[in-house]
Amino acid sequence: MLDLKIEGATVVDGTGTPGGRTDVGVRDETIVAVGDLSRESAGRTVHAAGRVVAPGFIDMHSHSDWRLWANRRAESKIRQGVTTEVVGNCGFSPAPVSDEHLDDLKGFALYLPRGMDFRWRSVGQYLDAFDADGTAVNVVQLVGHGTLRVAAMGFARREPTAGELTTMQRALADAVEAGAWGLSTGLIYAPGSYATTAEIVALARICARRRRTLYASHIRGEGATLLDAVAEAITVGREAEVSVQVSHIKAAGRPNWGKVTRALALVDAAAAEGLDVMADVYPYTASSTSLRSLLPDWALEGGISSMVERLGDPAVRERIGKELEQPVTGQSLLDRVGWENIMISYSPRRKDVEGKRLSEVGGLTGALDVLAAEPRSAMILFQLDERDLREALTHPRVMIGSDGSSLAPYGELGEGKPHPRSYGTFPRVLGEYVREQRVIPLAQAIHKMTGLPARRLGLADRGVIRPGAKADLVVFEPRRVRDRATYEAPHRYPEAIEHVVVNGRFVIRDGEHTGSLPGRILRLP
Ligand SMILES: [Zn+2]
Repeated sequence: MLDLKIEGATVVDGTGTPGGRTDVGVRDETIVAVGDLSRESAGRTVHAAGRVVAPGFIDMHSHSDWRLWANRRAESKIRQGVTTEVVGNCGFSPAPVSDEHLDDLKGFALYLPRGMDFRWRSVGQYLDAFDADGTAVNVVQLVGHGTLRVAAMGFARREPTAGELTTMQRALADAVEAGAWGLSTGLIYAPGSYATTAEIVALARICARRRRTLYASHIRGEGATLLDAVAEAITVGREAEVSVQVSHIKAAGRPNWGKVTRALALVDAAAAEGLDVMADVYPYTASSTSLRSLLPDWALEGGISSMVERLGDPAVRERIGKELEQPVTGQSLLDRVGWENIMISYSPRRKDVEGKRLSEVGGLTGALDVLAAEPRSAMILFQLDERDLREALTHPRVMIGSDGSSLAPYGELGEGKPHPRSYGTFPRVLGEYVREQRVIPLAQAIHKMTGLPARRLGLADRGVIRPGAKADLVVFEPRRVRDRATYEAPHRYPEAIEHVVVNGRFVIRDGEHTGSLPGRILRLP
């Protein structure tokens, strides 16, 4: 007797091979049979002719660790078919925490939900606190380097002392011991940007003591300095002997379009050398980040309140303006983007500017005013090239990661005009790039959402459909699946994702959320 039988769907099993029509049987939280199950009885049978059943999607690059505290239903992700999210990316994680620098961490956070009370200090305590309540999706946690640095030394703009480095190393070692999957950096974000390569290597080595850990990096530059930044990530992999994930690979700013090909050539060369280097991508030609990342990183020295104070000084504003015109570091986000191509997406204390272009709010002056009023403001930058995106989507070492969060069209998670990737990434790949544009075959696209990230993480029992694997499953209609979230109206669920099963239980059934929360923290074995 099965608990669940999915009958007559095309089973695309996540390995990259094209699927065939057959049945899938689930008992408890495990897939127990794949094949002709017409003689098997089941507690529930889903008739799925004309549908595809695939392993639940693994979002390789997510920031949901913050939003899930506000809403455990993971609405915008689960409705895409995502059953596991890799969180703690770009240097941001909610732990570890130090008493001394708790306020710095709150300033560092780009979103602070009510439920996030920082009753934890270590990452292990954090994981236990998170796991005490249910969640719709499974969660793989990375430790953010920015958070580690804030806990050890606040927003100090210098190298760590030997003692501070040891503090970071111990916190990271404890985190990995407690089940975190590795380290993430955000090398354009203060205070992560204050770190040298040597500091990152010294930390990544701690991860490398354990198998399967990952070093995921929002690299030091995605525009003019893209290739140097990829090279730095590879250096960390070589010197620390750790697997490297280049996060959300892109070439930002028109003068840099076309460089994704060369960046991926560096990844291939590293692989040929025997290093384990991969990347992820989201299927949009706009990026999104905090508004404050427009600023040169000296402007954040000392923390967010120091930043706000500086923004009140006309001389500082003038210096910021000059540096943005002529980026001295090569790290500037603005490589001839133009104010008209930057939209403020989120600014709870300045709702009047949400959805507006910087050109409509007074360019840099307006942006600095918004930032002074709301340091957590976010923006969308329309600055990427479609050909670069296709190049990344089709590359064998690139998988799918949304760079978004679990949002919802209601409550506090429904505010602003966030990047549509939080609602549309996976169905957009399946609808736009598989079916409409035929950029990539269905089975390969699914592999990049399932088997490939699972192998990357060493998740032996997920990301594939075979007897013995965990029953994380998605059933969708391949002829109709599509994203509906746009830049103008982002809070819209996709179409034709019919059923999503997490650990053997329906979270989405017939397109509706069941309220079930069968997900959990997956700990590094
Ligand atoms: Zn990032």
